[in-house]
Amino acid sequence: MEQQIKRIAVLTSGGDAPGMNAAIRAVVRTAAKSKMEVIGVQKGFHGLIEGDFISLNKNDVSDIIQRGGTFLYTARCDEFRTLEGQKAGAAQLKSAGIDALIVIGGDGSFEGARRLKELGIRVIGIPVTIDNDVACTDYSIGFDTAVNTAMDAIDKIRDTSSSHERVSIVEVMGRGAGYIALWCGIANGAEDILIPEMFDGNMPALIDRISSHVIETRAKGKTHHIIINAEGIGHTYEIAKAIQDKTGVGTRATILGYLQRGGSPSAKDRMLASLMGAFAVEELAEGRVDEIIAVHEDKIVGYPITEALNMFKDVEPFMYRVSGLMVR
Ligand code: ATP
Repeated sequence: MEQQIKRIAVLTSGGDAPGMNAAIRAVVRTAAKSKMEVIGVQKGFHGLIEGDFISLNKNDVSDIIQRGGTFLYTARCDEFRTLEGQKAGAAQLKSAGIDALIVIGGDGSFEGARRLKELGIRVIGIPVTIDNDVACTDYSIGFDTAVNTAMDAIDKIRDTSSSHERVSIVEVMGRGAGYIALWCGIANGAEDILIPEMFDGNMPALIDRISSHVIETRAKGKTHHIIINAEGIGHTYEIAKAIQDKTGVGTRATILGYLQRGGSPSAKDRMLASLMGAFAVEELAEGRVDEIIAVHEDKIVGYPITEALNMFKDVEPFMYRVSGLMVR
C-alpha cells in the first residue's frame, strides 16, 4: 500500500506570474485541513538543491491572495538540468522526510518534476505561466491577468495612435506561443495580429501585407492602426521602421515587457489558483501522485505527468477566423 502522505513541499519555478501566491495559499490551507505539514522551498529548483526550506502554516499565507509575484521567490536553475543537480534535489527532499513535492510553474518546471519522479519523488504540477503554453490545460494561472494588463495598456496606446494618426505596433509576451497576442488582438480590436503559430518566417512578405493593409485602412479614413506582435515573432522595432518606410505613415513600436508579468491577479486567476491548489493537495491526500493539474472543459482534472507533457495544443481554429488573421 502507498505510504500515506504527511509532509509535502511546494516551490515556484520559471517565470513569475500573477496567481502564484494564491496557489501556494490554497496548497497550505488545504493541507492544513488534511493534517499535512507543508514545507516551502525558496527560489525554485535552485533552493531545492541548496535545501533552502521554510516551514509554512496558515498564518504565513494570509494577506497574499491579492499579491502578484511569489513570496517563495522563483529562479531558473541550469544545475537542475543535470542528473547531479536532480539527484541533489531528490536527496534534500528525502533527508527532510518530505513525501511529495508540488511544483508551481510552466512546462520547463514540469520537465524538472518529471526527472524527480524518475528518481522516486512523488510530484504534482500546477500550471502557472502568463504564456498559457502548457499543453494539457486550457488555461494556466496568470494568463488572464496578463491579458487584461496588456489589453489596458494597448487601449492607452490606441488613444495616442489616433490622436497622432499613427500606426502602432505593440509587442506582447508569450515566448513561442501567441495566446496573449491573439486574445489582445481580438479584445483590443486590433487591425493586425501577428502570432508565431501562423507565421511562415517570410518577413519581407509579412511587411508587404501589413503595409498594404495600412494603406487600405488610411484610404477608408481610419486614423489609427494597431498591430499586435507576439514575442515569438519579435523584431518589433525593425517591423515598425519597415512599415513606416514603405507606407510613409508614422509608425511607433512599443514593447510591453515585464509589466505583463506583475500585478494583482484577476478574479479568474485567483479562482483558478485556489481550485488547482486545493485539487493538488486532495489528489495527494487520496494517494494520487505524479500528475499535472489542468482545466479541461471548465473542470479541474489531473493528468499523469508523462502523458501531460506529451500533449500538444494549438490555438482554437475558430479564434483564428474571428481574429481575421492575415499572417498565413
Ligand atoms: P515559464 O513558462 O514561465 O518560463 P517554465 O517553468 O517553462 O516557466 P523554464 O525556465 O523553462 O520555465 O524552466 C524552469 C526551470 O525548470 C529551469 O530553470 C530548470 O531548473 C528546470 N528545467 C527546465 N527544463 C528542464 C529539463 N529538461 N530537465 C530538468 N529541469 C528542467
